Amino acid sequence: MKENWSERLHLGSQHPIKIHLIGVAGSGMSGIAGLLLNLGHTVSGSDKSDTKETERLIKLGLNFYGAHSPEQVSDVELVIYSSAVKPGNVVYDKAIEMGIPMLRRADALVAIMATKKSIIVAGTHGKTTTSSLAAKVLRAGEGKPSHYVGAEVPILGTNAFWDSEGDYFIAEGDESDGTLVSYDPEYAILLNVEEDHLDHYKNGIEEIRSVFSEYLDKCRKKIIYCSHDLEARTLCCGRKNVISYGFEESDNIRGVIKEVRDGSTDFDVYDGAKLLGLVTLGIPGKHNVLNALAVIALATELEVDFSAISNAMAEFRGARRRFDVLYKSSNYSVIDDYGHHPTEIKATIETAKQLNPERLICVFQPHRYSRTKMMLEKFSSAFSGVDKLFVTDVYAAGEELIDGADANAVVRSVIKKDGVDARELTCFDRAHHIIGTEIRPGDNILILGAGNIHEVGSILARDLEVLDKLRRELDDPVTECRIYEPMRRHTTLKVGGPAQYWIEPITIESFSKSLRFFDQLNVPVRVVGRGSNLLICDGGIAGAVIRPSGGEFSEVSVSGDLITAGVGARFKKLSNIAKKNEITGFEWMEGIPGNVGGGLRMNAGAMGVETFDQVVSVKFLDSEGRLHEKSSEELKAKYRNVPELKNNYAVSAVFKGGKGNLKEIEKLTQDSMVKRKASQPIAASAGCIFKNPDHIPAGKLIEEIGMKGFNVGAARVSEVHGNFIINEGGATAEDVLSLIDEVKKRALEKCGVKLETEVQIIGEQQIAY
Ligand SMILES: Cc1cc2nc3c(=O)[nH]c(=O)nc-3n(C[C@H](O)[C@H](O)[C@H](O)COP(=O)(O)OP(=O)(O)OC[C@H]3O[C@@H](n4cnc5c(N)ncnc54)[C@H](O)[C@@H]3O)c2cc1C
Repeated sequence: MKENWSERLHLGSQHPIKIHLIGVAGSGMSGIAGLLLNLGHTVSGSDKSDTKETERLIKLGLNFYGAHSPEQVSDVELVIYSSAVKPGNVVYDKAIEMGIPMLRRADALVAIMATKKSIIVAGTHGKTTTSSLAAKVLRAGEGKPSHYVGAEVPILGTNAFWDSEGDYFIAEGDESDGTLVSYDPEYAILLNVEEDHLDHYKNGIEEIRSVFSEYLDKCRKKIIYCSHDLEARTLCCGRKNVISYGFEESDNIRGVIKEVRDGSTDFDVYDGAKLLGLVTLGIPGKHNVLNALAVIALATELEVDFSAISNAMAEFRGARRRFDVLYKSSNYSVIDDYGHHPTEIKATIETAKQLNPERLICVFQPHRYSRTKMMLEKFSSAFSGVDKLFVTDVYAAGEELIDGADANAVVRSVIKKDGVDARELTCFDRAHHIIGTEIRPGDNILILGAGNIHEVGSILARDLEVLDKLRRELDDPVTECRIYEPMRRHTTLKVGGPAQYWIEPITIESFSKSLRFFDQLNVPVRVVGRGSNLLICDGGIAGAVIRPSGGEFSEVSVSGDLITAGVGARFKKLSNIAKKNEITGFEWMEGIPGNVGGGLRMNAGAMGVETFDQVVSVKFLDSEGRLHEKSSEELKAKYRNVPELKNNYAVSAVFKGGKGNLKEIEKLTQDSMVKRKASQPIAASAGCIFKNPDHIPAGKLIEEIGMKGFNVGAARVSEVHGNFIINEGGATAEDVLSLIDEVKKRALEKCGVKLETEVQIIGEQQIAY
């Protein structure tokens, strides 16, 4: 019934009918919906989620359902379904039960094209680029073609378009499910033939050849084929009415590459012995020159003027995800490509290498377990020449896991075959964090895969662009600026996810400029010291983390009994300098593992003294980077908290001590150290986790409720001091937070005490960006 329907149905001339599309959100099905709406039909569609395409189609009149439900087809006259929709789908089953005529996507396309002369672009690789280029060129030749291509092509406007005036309809012919044989092309383009979609073609290349052969048999006028591809040549060369294209003298349409540039290629075009002229193709890569020659052969056959052809080729910009330059600067390029077959990967890598990056970093997401398994051998040599390869988990596309066909298998085979520096990325959501910490200026990052790996590329592109802008703004090569800095490296507890942007200014000027920069971008900022009072969550910190350290910030100078210290100076250094100058009052600082900045913000203290007992004044920057100075009184310090320094950032402070004597100072310092050593654990920690309740020290309370030694994962309540949680190695913030919750719960249950945390808990528990 299905085949009969597509044969007699001319959706391009038929009176309007009611049509429902199951799985309408994908790029192929949304194109069909767009064409049907253009033709005046009443169109509804269902899918699990909406996309940018469905949003656009709703404006054109699509009645979209965000879930599948049987009543959606109660009054429709035709149902079209995507190849991903199978029996068991409730709408599909209902349509069968009601006897509604049903068409596969390819058959629907045949029915739409039936009133036009069709030009089908087929082949294993390059269909989308070639069909879009053909649409662009024939449009420039004023042929008013309609088109249907399998991806978003900004230069064409939409992926599917109906022009009632033109004679021709250009479509990408999908070979993946054998429906290629449904078409009766006026012109059949054959780009290349290779093993792929082996889940469908159980008998391998023989079965694939026979589908392409049947497609060619049905061609009514001319077959245009690539002589450069052995399989295509073998399938076509014995036939009549063929036009060959390639780089050989014997080709009917021949290209001679003249110049390869970043993002474009110049080549001469010959029709037999006659030079037609020079073409500048607006997309890079030798493989794209071949695709362009296919279009030139077609356009020449349709008598499009050569100047119109070459103008359109120069203007052409590729389809989304086809060597799509997401970001480019003198430091980095991020290029996104749909390539997922080993041959496509090789061609794309070759093109990327022509851009001469210092290093080529590849990020590959294998597509489907079945393909990964069957092509493992080919994948092993596909990445030859890349400097670093990251492989994410396989994008399943609905398939069940197949043993031995995972990211690890790809990584092992690539290392074994080519010795490429390859690494598996086990957590997709964190992939960009790991890649981001390993890239450096001069890198070209190539994102490859047909699934959702482009999301990783987009995030990297966005954040590298901000990083580049910041570096330009600072114009200070000494200030370290990075993305995705792991915060566990900067906390004494040694836990914490990454900071989106990490900046280590060594001058007040660069600190101020950084603040202004992020303020203008509306990016949140957090300033840190040595991280000795911080518990940073595993999801990391969205926004900028600034750590003023070194340079001006570590300077400490003495004038009489006044000490001026930069916020990057350690408390220990301040205490030592005070001692050397026989200034008393700073002995208690010796054992506090923080910086002056953190000490000021926290009003840190010990031995009955606190930071603001010694502070005379503080210089600080506001959130827009302006410098201010306030006296200690104006700042109104509280217990372990100086609220005014929450959104203002200290850069230096003047402290005042008393006239002391070296021996006494040494003794006080020594006493403080001995006391600390005896009462505090020597392990990774964030100091006291809880504030002391009114009537009892938190450590004592925790000991009394029997929680000393209690652990969650590698986070443990210290046996030495009940108010310390130590990281025994490899603890996560989640472990520490669970342990904190447990202690709080038991303190409340057993003693009715509500413990409050002293350690600052910041960042996001889930991945923050
Ligand atoms: C073993 C151990 C013992 C400890 N003993 C004590 C103790 O006896 N007494 C005590 O009070 N604390 C103690 N602490 C906690 C901690 O050392 C102090 O709070 C210290 O002052 C924090 O300084 P930091 O540089 O590590 O700041 P961080 O932990 O990096 O930051 C703390 C806070 O200050 C903010 N901050 C940092 N720099 C600036 C700046 N320039 N401007 C504005 N805000 C800023 C941060 O955003 C954060 O909110 C101890 C910690 C450990 C690990």
